[in-house]
Amino acid sequence: MTRGVAILGSTGSIGTTALRVLERQRARFRVVALTAHSNAALLAEQAARFGPGYVGLVGCDGAAPPARDGWATGTPCLVEAATRPDADVVLNAVVGAAGLDATLAALRAGKRVALANKETLVVAGELAHAAAREGGGELVPVDSEHSAILQCIAGRPGQEVRRLVLTASGGPFRTWPRERLERATVADALQHPTWSMGRKITVDSATLANKALEVIEAHFLFGVPYERIEVVVHPQSVVHSFVEFVDGSVLAQMGVPSMELPVLYALTHPERVVDTGVPPFDPVELGPLTFERVRGDDFPALALGMAAGRAGGSAPAVFNAANEEAVALFLDGRIGLLDVPRAIEHALGALAGAPGGTRETLLAADAEARRAVRARFAR
Ligand code: NAD
Ligand code: MG
Repeated sequence: MTRGVAILGSTGSIGTTALRVLERQRARFRVVALTAHSNAALLAEQAARFGPGYVGLVGCDGAAPPARDGWATGTPCLVEAATRPDADVVLNAVVGAAGLDATLAALRAGKRVALANKETLVVAGELAHAAAREGGGELVPVDSEHSAILQCIAGRPGQEVRRLVLTASGGPFRTWPRERLERATVADALQHPTWSMGRKITVDSATLANKALEVIEAHFLFGVPYERIEVVVHPQSVVHSFVEFVDGSVLAQMGVPSMELPVLYALTHPERVVDTGVPPFDPVELGPLTFERVRGDDFPALALGMAAGRAGGSAPAVFNAANEEAVALFLDGRIGLLDVPRAIEHALGALAGAPGGTRETLLAADAEARRAVRARFAR
């Protein structure tokens, strides 16, 4: 019996990686649903190759999407695909808070959610856990750091874990002095040294906002308090993260920087299966492996995000929304790179103490944060 997989965001970097993995795993998995935002041509190609029963084009800004016959359209596509009875696993590879409702609905419907869409857990970590409890769903991370941590913890009880150490590549600006960061261009920010990814996460990696999102993600996935989650810069991206246990032993998971293994493992966890596509590991070729402290003063998005995580309530949702909005403005050439953390700080200050709790209050905080950033920074 094969397991059905629904892929939300199949035309993106993670979505296309997942289809490469699934091509090799046809004996175990079949693709039952695909959704994309606007790349109808690629979606049609994927649909022809994998023959899913459901294809959805979410479309953008009210403009009529060029959907093909038999396709579903509009925002409801995500939840429809995520709750289909023939989907056992939902790979959420949508970018941004737009993926939230699909994650919650899939968990409520008892699915395994292979989660690339980390913004979901940042906006509404508690709601995701409540949805999983209610419907029997399960969250398995796709993010390489969290996949590493899951593999290192390997089912040991939480009280044995002393500390999580997430690795960060440091991005393209790791060695740039502060004054040069002010003048960084979009093209500079999109030159990631070790990973090839979508534009939003690539900018997040350049500002270290991505690592802040990942600290919050780790907090919710593994139940570890913020004071026991740390970040270290590791430019080679070979060690995907560390777990320190209470006896002082430290485990790491390693591999060539490729998302194919974390995607595959999110589908098969806790089992391991033969996969011929994962590149061979040669420690000599990949080395030397080096580690550095984070330059926190020059990359303030990390500390802002960790403080938002500790504040709880709606603060992580505000952090995420302000970052999404600021990154969109940066990618449009309307603000500078260092305006991104400034915009986040502004929104967190303007919305301090906004209530969290329900989906509605969190989405209201999300919308307010976006408004606050646009009002101050969009020119
Ligand atoms: P991407 O921009 O390449 O792809 C995003 C996908 O989501 C596309 O298929 C797009 O059509 C769809 N999409 C975008 N906006 C949408 C919307 N509003 N509604 C519905 N669908 C929408 O992004 P990516 O790099 O694949 O990243 C996807 C997610 O995975 C992000 O949350 C990212 O942080 C996370 N992630 C990515 C990587 C990576 O290597 N790319 C690694 C770890 C985590
Ligand atoms: Mg990551």
